[in-house]
Amino acid sequence: MPPETLDFSDDVSPLVGSYAVDDVALAALTRSQAAAAPLCHACDAPIAGTPQASGLLVWARREGIQTEEPPLCSACATAIGLTALRRWQLEDEEG
Ligand SMILES: [Zn+2]
Repeated sequence: MPPETLDFSDDVSPLVGSYAVDDVALAALTRSQAAAAPLCHACDAPIAGTPQASGLLVWARREGIQTEEPPLCSACATAIGLTALRRWQLEDEEG
């Protein structure tokens, strides 16, 4: 089928994708993603303003112990905090 006969209608949606073709495009793409609102690490909900809570990820590598504090929304921070507190209480009760 020659290209001039292609018909993009509602029945056939074109494939949509994006990629950086060079370093300038990659820098522009990275900058626009960095300017976007931070997302909750647990539920991916956008967080308005500065995140008020964060998680703590700790892992060990040959280079030493690494940590990361990903942002959390208030609902996930509360749920994770209460779950951790409850598990701590259960461990104390069980000995
Ligand atoms: Zn969340």
